[in-house]
Amino acid sequence: MKPFAYTRATDTGAAIQTITAEQRAKFIAGGTNLIDLMKDSVEQPDRLVDISRLELARIDEVNGGVRLGALARNSDTANNPLVRQRFPLVSQAILAGASPQLRNKATNGGNLLQRTRCYYFTDTTMPCNKREPGSGCAAIEGYNRIHAIFGTSPQCIATHPSDMCVALTALDAVVVVSSPNGSRTIPFADFHRLPGNTPQIDTNLRRDELITAIELPASEAVFAPRSHYLKIRDRASYAFALVSSAVALDMNGDTIRGARVALGGVAHKPWRATEAEKILIGAKPNQQTFLRAAEATIRGAQPQKHNAFKVEMVKRAIVRALTIASGETA
Ligand SMILES: Cc1cc2nc3c(=O)[nH]c(=O)nc-3n(C[C@H](O)[C@H](O)[C@H](O)COP(=O)(O)OP(=O)(O)OC[C@H]3O[C@@H](n4cnc5c(N)ncnc54)[C@H](O)[C@@H]3O)c2cc1C
Ligand code: SF4
Repeated sequence: MKPFAYTRATDTGAAIQTITAEQRAKFIAGGTNLIDLMKDSVEQPDRLVDISRLELARIDEVNGGVRLGALARNSDTANNPLVRQRFPLVSQAILAGASPQLRNKATNGGNLLQRTRCYYFTDTTMPCNKREPGSGCAAIEGYNRIHAIFGTSPQCIATHPSDMCVALTALDAVVVVSSPNGSRTIPFADFHRLPGNTPQIDTNLRRDELITAIELPASEAVFAPRSHYLKIRDRASYAFALVSSAVALDMNGDTIRGARVALGGVAHKPWRATEAEKILIGAKPNQQTFLRAAEATIRGAQPQKHNAFKVEMVKRAIVRALTIASGETA
């Protein structure tokens, strides 16, 4: 590991000031992703700015919605009564990820910014446009079983690994950030990026911006009674998603009034399945409807050599998650 300097930030302003002043400084929160990447020489910051003790760990009700502090631990967020009651999808998604020990350390802000699990990204002997722009993509001609089937580019076919972010995408969360220029909010759908020609840039967060909170809007609480996070992975626990599906329905009698469908493990960003949502809205919640929604989603899929199985898996994950969320029987 390359030597680095360490600063413990005493307040938000000081943390932002240090990051702004030093081009190669990075924030560290729980450290569960960043430290691993530093050990592999994938990340090589000159300075770590420790933000873990800043007062950004509260989880509060705000305007009928819930505001998750960026430094609230994943375990505290998943087990928070407000989150469990109003946004159980978020709770389920977090609990489907990592392990209890990791969730006790990992923070909400860090979860959003965790980097891809593409094997070639962490293997510094291999070409990787995300790690070293212009070096090539070893995954495109290599072993690409865990890679993306939507939104890929000739530069990168990596996926975003987070579970929590899939639920946040489905529920139209908003990311609140602070920088020397003040505060701004970023709709969750615009937070992560597709790879395009710049796969080294994962998100639209600027490097001098600190995530301070994630807001779950009050309007999304209507989905609480009928939502489900389904994660399909190689092991029953402690494994990243091959495919995951976060779904939520709002009913008006026996008709679907509102629908949310998002997918994980299939794209460079959490993938909102808007075509599926259009089919669901106004329809009856049954197997034919769910299958039509799933089929509309996979129409645009572009699998790689080793991951064509994900196309069928997405279809089944959507149908299964919707079946569970709606209480219908398959
Ligand atoms: C073995 C293992 C298994 C895992 N399995 C899963 C899984 O199944 N599902 C899943 O979703 N996740 C999984 N994870 C990932 C885990 O959830 C993330 O590592 C964790 O959420 C990152 O949070 P952190 O606070 O530790 O971030 P850190 O490692 O501290 O930081 C990560 C990045 O975020 C930046 N950062 C952190 N906080 C802020 C902030 N407030 N503002 C701006 N930048 C910030 C840092 O600079 C760094 O670039 C796993 C991790 C491990 C090690
Ligand atoms: S898929 Fe992306 S992260 Fe993986 S090797 Fe290619 S460029 Fe790197």
